[in-house]
Amino acid sequence: MTIASLWVIVEPANGSLTSTSFELLSHARTLSANVAAITWGANDALAAAVGEYGATTLYDVGDLGGALPGAPVASAIATLVAQGTPDAILVPASYDGRDIIARLSARLDRPVLTNVTGLSDEDGLVTEHPIFGGTQIVNARFTGDGPGLIAVRPKSFAAEPSGGAAATVVAAPAGDTGASGAAIIVTSHVEERTGPKLEEAAVVVSGGRGLGEADKYSLIEEAARLLHGAPGASRAIVDAGWVPYSHQVGQTGKTVKPTVYIACGISGATQHMVGMKGSKNIVAINKDPDAPIFQIADFGVVGDVHKVLPALIEALKSRS
Ligand SMILES: Cc1cc2nc3c(=O)[nH]c(=O)nc-3n(C[C@H](O)[C@H](O)[C@H](O)COP(=O)(O)OP(=O)(O)OC[C@H]3O[C@@H](n4cnc5c(N)ncnc54)[C@H](O)[C@@H]3O)c2cc1C
Repeated sequence: MTIASLWVIVEPANGSLTSTSFELLSHARTLSANVAAITWGANDALAAAVGEYGATTLYDVGDLGGALPGAPVASAIATLVAQGTPDAILVPASYDGRDIIARLSARLDRPVLTNVTGLSDEDGLVTEHPIFGGTQIVNARFTGDGPGLIAVRPKSFAAEPSGGAAATVVAAPAGDTGASGAAIIVTSHVEERTGPKLEEAAVVVSGGRGLGEADKYSLIEEAARLLHGAPGASRAIVDAGWVPYSHQVGQTGKTVKPTVYIACGISGATQHMVGMKGSKNIVAINKDPDAPIFQIADFGVVGDVHKVLPALIEALKSRS
């Protein structure tokens, strides 16, 4: 290993961490023997969680007092870097992660490599980025001193515990963040959902323009429910206002890697496929035998979704 140390910004969620945080920790420990995590509002459970995934130190910015994480966490990390810098700082490419890393970039005067989907050690860190809707991959590496700042897309790596002991918690206060740290969260809204989260579901059933009209999306929801999965969507039907943006899979939506992905009436544009082609088994239902989605499907049904989906739903109901 040529990477002396890596820091990973990990995001608290419901008493634990987001799944992307675990993915980044898992991959970081394959690249460096010295992995530290950075979070806020740490507790014993988080120290145990990051330790289990390979971090030996947990820097804790502390309670943010309702502030958005961007300003205080970037400020705390800038202070830590002044005392000793890692080779790189990895962050989940989430809303807060991107906010933190952008602010840190300004503070440290270091560039950020974004939209990263792969990270390897080739005599230094080399990043991998899909471009042109995932049709091409480019590699990049940092030059110059100081930490490389890297924002990693969810589902780029597998989350695998290593069985490590709880990390040592080290206080890393934010210091004075001035006006930029003054914004606080006044209210937050938890999106209503039954069943698993789209990004974490083992089965995803997605609908596209081939459904014909918004009301037919209920077929997707019912099939997803019967399969204990989550409903997804192509951008075409999100843009048409049939379903909320939170359902969108693809380049400008969510990346999913379920065990089974069922694409219903979705053509398979590269911008859609980049968000689901890592699925273990891809099933496509499309009336056009030449639809691009069939090129990556493990199992294809050439047929009308309005006939195939109701038949699938009936079959699933008869089994349950
Ligand atoms: C910068 C950029 C970012 C983008 N990001 C995303 C993204 O994140 N996610 C995304 O999905 N798209 C994204 N897009 C849009 C993308 O290019 C496609 O336009 C979109 O994915 C098409 O959605 P669709 O497959 O539902 O619709 P269409 O391409 O119109 O395909 C509909 C399909 O349904 C089939 N069909 C029609 N009727 C039936 C029927 N009765 N039964 C069975 N099949 C039927 C047709 O044969 C066709 O293949 C992006 C585009 C750009 C430019």
